[in-house]
Amino acid sequence: MVSRVIPVDPFDLVIFGGTGDLARRKILPGLFRRFCAGQMPDDARIIGAARSDMDDAGYRDMVRKAIVEFAGKLACEDGTMNGFLDKLHYVPIDARGEAGWADLAKLVRGDVIRAYYFSVGPGLFGDLAERLTKHGLTDDTVRIVVEKPFGRDLASAKALNRDLAAHFDESQIYRIDHYLGKETVQNLMAVRFGNMLFEPLWNSQYIDHIQITVAETVGVGGRGGYYDKSGAMRDMVQNHLMQLLCLIAMEPPSKFDPDAVRDEKLKVIRALDPVDHHHIVRGQYGAGPDGADYRTDAENPRSFTESFIAMRLHISNWRWAGTPFYLRTGKRMKARSSEITVVFKDAPHSIFDAEAGRHRNMLSIQLQPNEGMTLDVTIKEPGPGGMRLVDVPLDMTFADALGPDAEEVPDAYERLIMDVIRGNQTLFMRGDEVEAAWAWTDPVIAEWEARNDVPKPYDPGSTGPDDALMLMHRDGRRWRDIRT
Ligand code: NAD
Repeated sequence: MVSRVIPVDPFDLVIFGGTGDLARRKILPGLFRRFCAGQMPDDARIIGAARSDMDDAGYRDMVRKAIVEFAGKLACEDGTMNGFLDKLHYVPIDARGEAGWADLAKLVRGDVIRAYYFSVGPGLFGDLAERLTKHGLTDDTVRIVVEKPFGRDLASAKALNRDLAAHFDESQIYRIDHYLGKETVQNLMAVRFGNMLFEPLWNSQYIDHIQITVAETVGVGGRGGYYDKSGAMRDMVQNHLMQLLCLIAMEPPSKFDPDAVRDEKLKVIRALDPVDHHHIVRGQYGAGPDGADYRTDAENPRSFTESFIAMRLHISNWRWAGTPFYLRTGKRMKARSSEITVVFKDAPHSIFDAEAGRHRNMLSIQLQPNEGMTLDVTIKEPGPGGMRLVDVPLDMTFADALGPDAEEVPDAYERLIMDVIRGNQTLFMRGDEVEAAWAWTDPVIAEWEARNDVPKPYDPGSTGPDDALMLMHRDGRRWRDIRT
């Protein structure tokens, strides 16, 4: 089963920060894969703009190396690389000064789709917006793409929104959360709203609880300085986990349209109860076999920043009253795995003997490393051993369903960049959503700071602090195992 590729319209995509880590690891390899898939029109151009002094040839060389290192297994035939590299240009530019802007203005065309990707720190968003306007590079058709972190609290997020709103309409701003670009995340909406099977059961009457886990095996080494000022709450919960929570909990939008979807997501965030600190576990990883603990990696021997967080949340509305949501995320965990698990309630009455055991349906949505879904269904254990029940997963793993073409599933960045070119904002965060998420997050962080809360230590390679297990056990529940 190969997906149909529809080429997008001609465009100029300017990547500010086009020499940076994100551009080299994700954006450019992603664009290359779209080129190989035949989605890029002949008339598309990609313009790197950054501080380094180099010319087109130097940039093409840099991008070639990045693609070889980061593009993974390619569906591209030999020799196609040069076709892609020919589309690349480079302009040395200073976001805070005047250097390079006149050259960029000469290069960018006015009669094709224009998109500006701000792959730079948020401190430069306002400068870039201002200079794009000043140099006549904008009108109400251009699109801008901004990266996380979108603020570090409500006040800074509001300031960024104000800076951008001074130059662009909300319909022109694409705030990236790459989790929303994952195939399974979109499939979650397809499964919920495209089938009759699930939606009637999608409420507190039938669902016992929902778990969202985003576990990483890596520590913060290499970006410890940045991470230490952020922590898991700001770095993961406020954006990625909150977005997943919204998609799983939202009401059906009236249509699959950017504002209809985002209105419903916003309602979920606004219906979140303030979280009680008894329902939060913060953790910090201890020393692993390499001897480095979190504080060593963060280069801050007195750090109280959390590298793990688990919490129980409630959504105060008719659909979810009484159904808890358990969220957990951490660094240096036992496996790299992002998964949403919907645990249904027990059947109201068991007609089977006690030996049949207790069984529950579970829908599990894996986001990484292997995107797919499984639905645990209870059946009779085969054989003559009496009426014993077992849970069997109905597996909907995309790799299996797609067979040899599984690699063709685009990476989240590829999909999102093509959505920018197509002008579809459905999978991007709207300014009011981001602000609502910070408005919920800020008091939680303020309370830790007021109490000088010390995170609980946990062993690298584990599932986090024991208190996180207790958070579930207290409620008679348990986390699904973290597995790849
Ligand atoms: P980086 O430090 O590797 O690259 C920064 C880029 O910005 C470089 O190309 C540099 O030349 C350019 N730049 C810096 N100051 C400039 C100026 N005054 N004028 C013009 N260009 C300037 O950073 P990165 O890791 O690529 O991250 C870029 C943004 O993306 C950041 O906001 C980061 O938080 C976000 N982000 C990065 C990742 C990642 O995996 N690297 C993931 C998610 C979000």
